[in-house]
Amino acid sequence: MPGNRARVLVLHPALGPLDYRVPHGMRVEPGSIVSAPIGPRPYAGVVWEAERLPTEEVGDNRLRNLLSVADAPPLTAAVRRLVEWTANYYLAPLSSVLRMALSSTAAFENAPTIIEYRATGLVPDRMTPQREQALERIGDRQGLVRELATIADVSEAVIRGLCKLGAIEAVTVDTDSPYPLPDPNFAPPELSKEQIDVASILRQAVGAAAFQPFLLDGVTGSGKTEVYFEAVAAALAAGKQTLVLLPEIALTEPFLTRFAKRFGCEPIAWHSGLRTSQRRRAWRAIARGQAMVTVGARSALFLPYRNLGLIVVDEAHETSFKQEDGVHYHARDVAVMRGKFESCPVILASATPAIETRHQVELGRYEELKLPGRYGVAELPEIEAIDLIKEPPERGRWLAPKLVLAIDAALERGEQSLLFLNRRGYAPLTLCRHCGHRFQCPNCTAWMVEHRLIRRLSCHHCGHSVPTPEICPECEEPDSLVACGPGVERIADEVAALWPQAKTAIVTSDTLWSPAKAAEFVQRMEHGDIDIVVGTQLVTKGYHFPNLTVVGVVDADLGLDGGDLRAAERTFQQIMQVSGRAGRGEKPGTVFIQTHAPDAGVMQALVSGDSAAFYEAETEARREAEAPPFGRYAAIIVSSEDKGAAHDVARMIGRTAPQSEEMHVYGPAPAPLAMLRGRHRFRLLVHARRAFDVQDVIREWLGGLEWGAKVRVAVDVDPYNF
Ligand code: ADP
Ligand code: ZN
Repeated sequence: MPGNRARVLVLHPALGPLDYRVPHGMRVEPGSIVSAPIGPRPYAGVVWEAERLPTEEVGDNRLRNLLSVADAPPLTAAVRRLVEWTANYYLAPLSSVLRMALSSTAAFENAPTIIEYRATGLVPDRMTPQREQALERIGDRQGLVRELATIADVSEAVIRGLCKLGAIEAVTVDTDSPYPLPDPNFAPPELSKEQIDVASILRQAVGAAAFQPFLLDGVTGSGKTEVYFEAVAAALAAGKQTLVLLPEIALTEPFLTRFAKRFGCEPIAWHSGLRTSQRRRAWRAIARGQAMVTVGARSALFLPYRNLGLIVVDEAHETSFKQEDGVHYHARDVAVMRGKFESCPVILASATPAIETRHQVELGRYEELKLPGRYGVAELPEIEAIDLIKEPPERGRWLAPKLVLAIDAALERGEQSLLFLNRRGYAPLTLCRHCGHRFQCPNCTAWMVEHRLIRRLSCHHCGHSVPTPEICPECEEPDSLVACGPGVERIADEVAALWPQAKTAIVTSDTLWSPAKAAEFVQRMEHGDIDIVVGTQLVTKGYHFPNLTVVGVVDADLGLDGGDLRAAERTFQQIMQVSGRAGRGEKPGTVFIQTHAPDAGVMQALVSGDSAAFYEAETEARREAEAPPFGRYAAIIVSSEDKGAAHDVARMIGRTAPQSEEMHVYGPAPAPLAMLRGRHRFRLLVHARRAFDVQDVIREWLGGLEWGAKVRVAVDVDPYNF
C-alpha cells in the first residue's frame, strides 16, 4: 500500500470511503476488515483499492491511524466487485451493501469464542414470578444475556440475578469450531435417464469453473432438487463452496433434513433467527472456506464465500427474492451477477419460471435444462375450475359443494387435503353494521386484519395490533361488528363445522414462525396426524406429502385485482405451485380452483395445462406495453411523516424530471400504499427502453436536488409493486 495509506469503505451510513494511515507493524491489503475511527467512535470497514473508490485526497498530516485488523480473511475481489455492482445498479449506498456482506458484528470481533449462558437446573431459594417465568421459558436454551432476556420476556437484570444465584451459568462457545463436511458419495440416488443427462451437464459446468447461468425447468416433483444435488456433489468433490438460496426461511428445515439424507450431514443454515454465536461461527466458516454448503434466504447471498463453485436459486420465480426494504435488490438477479464475479455456474430452478428468466433463455444468455415429467409413477394432478357464480357455496360459506364432496371422498379414503388461501387471520376487514365504521390502521393505508385465535386486530404492514373490541368504538352499539371476507382461520372454522372429526392444521407465518415449528408440521403430515391443511402461500412450496391428493384454491381471483403488471403471471405461478402439492406419490391428485372468472386466460391455461400458450400470450402483452423484460421501470418513492413536505419534494422531483424519447417519468401520484408505518408516500414511475442506462440518469437527476432531513427519497430499480 503506497505511503502506508489505506482507503477504507466504512460502515457509516452517511460517509463515503475515507483514507487512513496504516500504523507501523500493521499489515493490510484490499479486502482486509479493519476498525477505523470516525470522531470518537470506532467503525468497521474494509480496505478497498483506492483507484476504484475515488474520494477527496487528505494530506498525510491529517490522516488518522487505523485501530486494528480483524482476525478474519480479507473479502475476496469477487465480493468487493459484487458490493460495487449492487450499489451501482440499485442506486444504494456502498456502505449499506457492504453491511450485508459483513453481517453485523460477526466480521470484526476478533475473539474466536463467545460467552453464552444457560440454566443449570438449580432452583434458587428466593424465587420471584419473574425468575420463575425466566427459568421456565429458557428451558434448555442457551444464548447471550440479551438473547435469554428476550426469550424469557424479562429484563437482563433478572437473568444476571439468576446468574449470581447459580441458576444460570456461563459457557464458552468456540465460534471457530469446524462444521462436519458433507460427503458427496454418502447416498447418491439412482437417477432416471433424463436426470442423468441433465445432471451430467451441470457436473461439467461445475468442473469448468466458468460463469454459466442455467434455467432448470421441470414441473413440480420432476426431481429438480435431486438433480441439482448432483451439481452440489460435484462442487464438494472439487473442494468448492455452494450457496443454495430458498425463497422462505420456513423451507429451510425440510431442506436441511433432505440434504442430510443425501450428503450425511446438514448444510449451514443462514437466516435471521440465528443466535449471535451461531451467526458468528457460520460467518467465519464461510469466510474461511470451511463451510462447504450454505442454505439461506436472500441475505445469504452477500456473505463472503472464500471459493464459491456453485449457486442454486431454488423456486427462482418467487417474488420473495425481491427485497423491498433498505437496499431494494432482486436476489435472483444479484445471484446471477455473483456467479459472474465468482466464475461459477448459477442454477435457477423453477417449475414456473418468470417471464424475465424465459426471455434470457430466448436471448441465449441462459441455458435451459428440462426435466420432462414427474419422477417415478407420480402424475401431474387434474385441474378443475369451479365457477362460483354457477356453483356457489352455501350462504355464509366459502367452499363450493363440489370441493366439499372431493374432501369428503379424500377423508373417506384416508387421504389428505389442502385448502389454499393467501390471507392470514380470520377476516381481512371488520366493520360496524350499525354505523359503517371500518377498522383502519392508524399508520398505514390498510385495514386491520382480525386474528381470532389471539383475539386481536393487526396491521399486516406495520405490525400495529390492538385487542379485538367487543363493541364499535364509534357508535358503541353492542354486537354490531361483522367480519367481512375470509382468511385462513375462517376457512378452518368452516372445515371444523363440516368435518368435526377431521384433524386440521392452519399453516401461516403466524403458526409456522420458526424452523422447529415447520419441522413439527412436516412430521405431523408424514405421520398422518393431519387430514386437512388450511394454509397461505407458505404451504405451496417445496413440501412433498405423498398422501395429499386434493387441493382446493379458495379464491383464485385474489391475486388478480390491483392491476399489477405481474398479476396474471403471479396467479399462474402460485396456483401451479400449490397444485404441485397434490398427487406427488402413487395416488393421483385433483385440484379445484374456485373462481368468478373461469374464462380468464390464466384460469383456462391452468385447467388445460397449456403453460406454453399462457407464457406466449403474457410475453406478447409485455412486449406491446414495453414492460419488463422489453422495457424497464424504476420507482422513486418520496416519503415523510409530514404529508405536505413529501408532496412538495415529490413535485419538485417531478418538475425537474428529464424526459426523452428513451425515458418517460410519470407522477408523482400517491404510492400504492399511500401511507406506510406512519409515513406518507408519493411515487414517480420511470419507464425506459430496455438498453437505456436509467441508473445514470436518475443518479444525475436526483444528485442535483436537495431536500430536508424529514423527507426520504428511495429508488426501487426493477420494482415489483405497481
Ligand atoms: P422437484 O424439486 O422438481 O419438485 P424433487 O427433487 O423434490 O422434485 O423430487 C420429487 C420426489 O421424487 C422427491 O420425493 C424425490 O426424492 C423423488 N425423486 C426424484 N428423483 C429421484 C431419484 N432419482 N431416485 C429416487 N427418488 C427420486
Ligand atoms: Zn399499519
